[in-house]
This record gives sequence, structure tokens and C-alpha cells, in this order.
Amino acid sequence: MATLTYLTTTHFDFGAVHRIPNELARARISKPLIATDAGIRAVGLVDKVIGVLGKDVLISIFDETPGNPTEAAVLKAFEQYSCDRCDGVLALGGGSSMDLGKAVALLAGSGGPLAQYDPLAGGAKKVQSVAPLIAVPTTAGTGSEVSIGFVIIMDDGRKLTFASPLFVPKAAICDPELTLGLPQMMTAATGMDAITHCIEAFLTPTINPPADGVALDGLWRGWRNLRAAVKDGTDRAARWQMMMCSTEGAMSFIKGLGAVHAMSHAAGRIERLNLHHGTLNAVFLPAVLRFNAPECDEKYERIRQATGLAPSADLAEAISDLNADIGLPSGLSAMGVEEGDIPDLITYAMKDLSAMTNPRPALEDDFEVMIRESL
Ligand SMILES: [Zn+2]
Repeated sequence: MATLTYLTTTHFDFGAVHRIPNELARARISKPLIATDAGIRAVGLVDKVIGVLGKDVLISIFDETPGNPTEAAVLKAFEQYSCDRCDGVLALGGGSSMDLGKAVALLAGSGGPLAQYDPLAGGAKKVQSVAPLIAVPTTAGTGSEVSIGFVIIMDDGRKLTFASPLFVPKAAICDPELTLGLPQMMTAATGMDAITHCIEAFLTPTINPPADGVALDGLWRGWRNLRAAVKDGTDRAARWQMMMCSTEGAMSFIKGLGAVHAMSHAAGRIERLNLHHGTLNAVFLPAVLRFNAPECDEKYERIRQATGLAPSADLAEAISDLNADIGLPSGLSAMGVEEGDIPDLITYAMKDLSAMTNPRPALEDDFEVMIRESL
């Protein structure tokens, strides 16, 4: 049975930020909590949004979102939301700020504790309602502005993926202007997150042909523009295309993701390293493409068509070449991952929600092989 659900209204182009006031009104938000991080505030993007809102709009700003959002940070933001009597969330930032904003909206609508909503324990059914949320991405990668999910590191160390159609923002404001100042490494890493979403979502066995079409279109755009966006961050056309790749990647992963994300989520938990999700995806992707190959003949052919690669091209090698071209590390060792980390990586990857939809079921030994290949 195919279940096809698309719920978001997305305003997409340079200047889209000017739609924020209308969307806040449409969502009946009179006092938003702006969920963001200190870096976004420092580069002036919070001020830019406040400028668009005008002086009369009441706001509360939470700018303490960590690089990988934690349950503790969610609770702190929710306390501020409650104390300041906010009635909705305006999430401004990369995946971290948007995910933290979604978690705050969930607590505001359905109450705590957050752990009860773990979808692997049947928690999605416990989500009663979610406070209205408008998402404004400042990177082109996660696509959290249109996705049904968010990821939080819990107090007990687990990295949980929460998923429900109710977590889709009321509106997404995709303004590529906000990504023009994104540093080169962040452009590369977030861009590879978007490309990985397109590839993994397309490869999952879930039946959703419209989402497959969206994934391949996103891949077409990302493959042709990521190198240019990394080389020259002011390339407006490349920035527009990468933001669309990101949005389409997330629209397509309503189908689910795969082993790349399962391992990235596991490695993202390693506290001493605080590794970037997109960089991890880039590094794991070649090994997973090799592992999945026996199940994916026809789909790999379609990926070669979308990327413009030769019919005989090796997809894993093409990804490794792209990673090298845009300056990403060649393996996990270069990122500080050690032999001793492997057992935990396997354990957590196998338990991750994304592992359930990999096109070729991966057992413990398979994960070990893929992790060692990625070292
Ligand atoms: Zn991702």
C-alpha cells in the first residue's frame, strides 16, 4: 500500500523571508519563540528576520541550540517558551535549530517527557498535537523544514529520531539568500547531506513513485551544483539549486532512509568528537552503495542517468571523487574515529530507525564491514 502525504506550504526564492509575517498570521502565532543558535545570531540573520517582522511583533529568542541538539537544550528552550507565553515557534537555522524547534513545539502541544514519543517504542501514536511552527533554513542540507522527523540526543545518550506527519512545519520559508554566507566546509557537508537524502530515499524499497521522482530531481540539481556552490559561495544560481536539492531530499525521505543515516546517527553520538552529520554521510555513502549494489541494479542505472554518469560508472567511486573535490575527509580515521568506537557504532546503527528501510537488510557483520571500509 502506498501512502502519499505532502503537507507543507513552501515559499521558495530569493526574498522569501518577506513571507514570514503572513505565514505567522496564517498559523495564528502572535508571539513566536525564535529557535536559533549563537552563530546564526552573530552573522546577523536573526536581526534580518526581526527586521522583516517589524517592531510591533512580540518575540522571544532562544539562541543556545547546540551543534547536535540535546534533550537538555530542548527543555531549556521549552521553559523559555512557557515563561514568555509564546504560542508558536519560528525555527531559524540549520537542522539543529529546526529540530530543536520541532521538539519544543511537540512538548508545547503534547507535554513531556520527550522519550515517550520514541517511534521505535510506538511513541508516534502518543503525539496528540503540536504547537504551530514555521521553519526558515539557513543551510541547504537537512531539509528539516519540510520533513516529518527530527533528531535529538537524549539525556541517556541515545540519539533518537522522532517521526510523525504532525511534525511537518506549517510553512517553510526557503530563501537562498540566507545561505550565501555559509562557509565552504559547511556548504560541502550540508550539501552532501542533501545528496545522501536523495540517494537513500530513492533506494528504500518503500513504494512511493512521486517521492522517487522528487528524489531524482533533487539529485540532478545537487550533483550539478554542489561543486560550484563550494567553490564560490556567492554563486546565487548554485545556492538556489542546492537549497532546492535539500528541500526535495527531505520531501523524498518521507519514504525512509537507509544504512548511511543509521551509521551517521550512531557516529554523531560520539561525544568527544561532535562530528557533523553531513560529513559523516559523505564518508559512509561509498561503502553503503557497494553493500546495496546486489539489490539495486535498476535503481543504480536511474541514479547514473540523473547524475549524468556513464552507464558503466561506479557510483561509490563517483561519490568518493565528489567528496575529494569539495574538500571532505576521505574517511572516519581522519575525523578521529578509533577502533574502540566500532562496537558501539554497530550496536546503535542496528537499532536506528533508518536501518529498517535499507534496500538490503544489514546484519551486525555487514555493518562492521561497512564501517571498516569507511575508516
Ligand atoms: Zn541527513
